[in-house]
Amino acid sequence: MNNTPYIFDIVRGSFDDGPGIRTTVFFKGCPLKCSWCHNPESQLYRAEIAWNENSCIKCNACKTVCPNGAISDKDSHRINRILCIGCGKCVDVCVHALKRIGTIYSPEGLVEILMRDKVFYDTSGGGVTFSGGEPFSHLSYLLEVCRELKKQGIHLAAQTSGFFNYELFEQTIQPYINIIYFDLKIINRNQHFFYTGQYNDLILKNLRKLASYKQQKLIVRTPLIPKITATDENMAAIKTLLADLKIDEYETLEYNPMGQHKYTIIGKKQTHVI
Ligand code: SF4
Ligand code: SF4
Repeated sequence: MNNTPYIFDIVRGSFDDGPGIRTTVFFKGCPLKCSWCHNPESQLYRAEIAWNENSCIKCNACKTVCPNGAISDKDSHRINRILCIGCGKCVDVCVHALKRIGTIYSPEGLVEILMRDKVFYDTSGGGVTFSGGEPFSHLSYLLEVCRELKKQGIHLAAQTSGFFNYELFEQTIQPYINIIYFDLKIINRNQHFFYTGQYNDLILKNLRKLASYKQQKLIVRTPLIPKITATDENMAAIKTLLADLKIDEYETLEYNPMGQHKYTIIGKKQTHVI
């Protein structure tokens, strides 16, 4: 979908994103807009600016340098998110209230960062995990990264929403990925659309294909969102589907309600506060 992906975080020394010690790369951009998302800064496919009102001294330096007139001092220095192009000029002149979310790395540059912890991967059985956002929105870029990492013997995992182009995935990075963590959220088609902004047809189709591809490990996961995914009806439907597809690796993820502040600083509102 995007040849020059933005990355919003690279977490080294992670124990939560696969076996052993891992470095996890968080890509920006997601085709889903889950109402409970605790990483709202991952949703947009481009850079954006976070503004922390409590740290702002109202000096107006940001407004002066903005080339797009995206900053207003009438509305508590709010950033007009439609006018903002994420150039980061305002961040350069701000002491501490603004932060640019989203950085572009060349494939070689990213590989260089990821290889810094090879000794930890080797000694712990770890590796690299691609997350997001939706990492499989960036398959041509990932192909370059995966090729190089595999040459160096790095174990690779990916966390996906399941909403991606399977044919392209198959032709590019599928042979390189050792483990796929596949989010299966809601089985009811209309409810899936209501809570994530997308129907689940493509996700279910991709899950079936991955389940029949036996050469990589597949772990299905459901985030437990009260009254949305964690209902008796939905959990029973998931169980039935997994049995039908003969998928025996399954995990649930506890709901993380810590995202509200993240919505505020990037000028968004959480649509469903749980
Ligand atoms: S430059 Fe930073 S501190 Fe000054 S008004 Fe802009 S956001 Fe606030
Ligand atoms: S990132 Fe660029 S366009 Fe957006 S508010 Fe800052 S200076 Fe203006």
